[in-house]
Amino acid sequence: MKLLYSNDYELFLGGITAHENEVVIKPTEELLAACEVMGAPMTFFVDVLSLIRYRELGKADFPDAVSRQMCDAISRGHDVQNHIHPHWPTTKLVSKGGNTMYRFDEKSFVLGAADDPYTWSVRLLSEGRSYLEDMIRKTDPAYACRAYRAGGYGLQPNERDVLRAAIDTGHLIDSSIVPGLVIDSSVHHVDFSGCAGGEYRLNENLQPASEGIFEIPVAAGHIPGAALAGSYLKRLATRASATKYSGYGAVAVQQGKTQNSLVRHMTRLKGRVERLANAWGYLELTDDADIMVAITKAYVETYNPQYICFSCHSKSINTTKLKALIEYHKKMKSIFGEELEATTFSALYDEVT
Ligand SMILES: [Zn+2]
Repeated sequence: MKLLYSNDYELFLGGITAHENEVVIKPTEELLAACEVMGAPMTFFVDVLSLIRYRELGKADFPDAVSRQMCDAISRGHDVQNHIHPHWPTTKLVSKGGNTMYRFDEKSFVLGAADDPYTWSVRLLSEGRSYLEDMIRKTDPAYACRAYRAGGYGLQPNERDVLRAAIDTGHLIDSSIVPGLVIDSSVHHVDFSGCAGGEYRLNENLQPASEGIFEIPVAAGHIPGAALAGSYLKRLATRASATKYSGYGAVAVQQGKTQNSLVRHMTRLKGRVERLANAWGYLELTDDADIMVAITKAYVETYNPQYICFSCHSKSINTTKLKALIEYHKKMKSIFGEELEATTFSALYDEVT
C-alpha cells in the first residue's frame, strides 16, 4: 500500500490578511521540515493560475518565491502537480488597509460552469501544465506535469467536459474526488455521495470503468465513536490552537447529505457525544493524529485500496497540525508496517499507464 501525501498550495479565496509569504511560503517551509522528519515526500498541487495572474498584474515577487520554493522541493524529492482555480484569470487585486482583496465573478469558480466548458478547461489546464513544466524543468529536465486536482474539489458541473479536457491536455491522473463529500458553498456545489473510493479508471459519470483517467481519490470514511470521544476530550484538555493565518470567504464544507441530516437529527435528540459517534470525515490534516488514523482505517476497510491519498493546505498549517502529521505518519508505519510506502504522484505514472 502506498501513501500519497498531497498539499493544495494556494492563497485564500476572497483575499488575504497577511503577506503572501506568510500565507503560503513560510508554512510550506515548516511543512517541508516536517516531511524531512517523516522521511516522506509531498505532492504539491500548485494553484498555478494565481501565479500567472500575479505576473500579469506586475506582482512577480510571489510567483518568483513560489518558483524557488517548488524547485527546492523537487530537488528534495517532492512533487508538483496541477491545481486549477479558474476564477484567477479575471480576478482583480485590491489593496485595502494592508490586506489584499481578490475580486472575482463567483460564477467563474469552477471550470465546468463556463459557457463552453470543454474549450475553457483545455485552455486553463494546458496553461497551468505548461507553466509548471517551464518552472520545474530548470531543476529537473525530465519533469512532466501529469496529475490534476480541481480547485475546491469542483469537478462538477459538466464533469464530462472537464475530464475530457484533462485527458486531452496530457493529464494521466485525477485526484479531485473525495468519496461521500458534499459541498455547498457560495461559489460551487459538489456532490460525490455516489462516488467510490479506491483507485480506478474514472468514466464521464464519475464511476469506475474500464477506460478513463486514472482516479486516486482523497481518502474518506466514517469515524468510530471512540476515536471521536477521545478527540473531543483532548480538545477540552488542550483548547486546540487556532490556525495562524487567515483569509476571507472560506468555503464551507459539509459531510455527506445523509449523514448530515442524521447527525442534525441526533444532535437534537441525544446531544454531542451521539452526534460524534456518527461522524464522517475525509483525510485532511487536522490537529488530531488519531482521527486521521481512524479515517484511514475506515477507508482501507471499505475499499481495500492500493493508494491512500492524504490532503493538506499550506495556508491552514500550524505547529499543532504539523506535530499531528508527524505522529500520524509514525502511527501509520506501526499499523501497516514496512509494506506502507510514502510516494508521489509522479512516481505513479508508470504504474497507471
Ligand atoms: Zn484549491
